[in-house]
Amino acid sequence: MKYGLDSFRKDFSTEEECLGYVFNKLYGPRCSCGGRYAKVRNRRQYQCSRCRHQIAPTAGTIFHKSPTPLTLWFHAIFIFCHARSGISAKEMQRQLGVTYKCAYRMLSLIKHRVRQGEGKLQGIVDIDTGQFSEKSSVILAVERNGPIRARVVRKTDAVTVQAFIHDMVEKKVAYTTRMNAGDPFFFNFKRSIKGTFKNVSDAKLQAYLNAFVFRYNHRHDDKQRFEALCESLVRPKSVV
Ligand SMILES: [Zn+2]
Repeated sequence: MKYGLDSFRKDFSTEEECLGYVFNKLYGPRCSCGGRYAKVRNRRQYQCSRCRHQIAPTAGTIFHKSPTPLTLWFHAIFIFCHARSGISAKEMQRQLGVTYKCAYRMLSLIKHRVRQGEGKLQGIVDIDTGQFSEKSSVILAVERNGPIRARVVRKTDAVTVQAFIHDMVEKKVAYTTRMNAGDPFFFNFKRSIKGTFKNVSDAKLQAYLNAFVFRYNHRHDDKQRFEALCESLVRPKSVV
C-alpha cells in the first residue's frame, strides 16, 4: 500500500492528531471506572471524565520529555521510513527545516529503536556471511520469499553462526548454508553505507544494519512500514 506525503499530512497535521495516535496505540478510550478519556487542553495528557485519572501517553516512548513538536517527530519517522538507502542527519535537517542538533538527536533515537522484524524465521532459510571491513562481518538469514535477519559479528566461525541461527531461526526449520544467498542484499547494503555514511564504526554498523533490514523486510508496503516503525517507537522502553 502506498503512503505518500499527502496522505501522511492528512493523518498527522496537528499535535492533537499525533498525540491521539500515540494514545490509541497504547491505551483505549475507556477507563476501568467506566468513564472516557479526553485530551487535556494545552498539555500532552488525557483525563478520565469520571474518576479524573490522568495519562501522559508519551511517557516511556521515544517522545518522552522531548520539547520537539510531535508533528516534527512524526515527519522525521515518515522521512526515515521512505529513505530507501538510509538517511544522514544533515539530510534530515534539510528536509525538516530544524537545527542539525535536533535532526541528529531524533535520527539517533529512531535508529536505536528500529527492529528488524518480529519473531523468528520459518520455512526454508538460507544462511550466508559477508565481510565488511578488516574487523567486521555480517551473518545473514534469508527466509525464501520472506524476511531476513542480520547480525554484525567479529568472526564467522561455526559457534558464532550457530548462536545466530539459534536466535533468529525457528527450531526444526531446514536451513542451508547456501553461498551467495545474500549477494544482492550485501551489495546494496555496502553501497548504501558508502553513499550515505563515511567510515562507519563497528558499533554503528549494527544500528545501520537494523534500519536497512527493517526497510528491506517492509519494502512492499509503505503504510505497513510506517506503522511497524511507529509501533516500536511508542512502545515504552522497558518492554522493547
Ligand atoms: Zn476513570
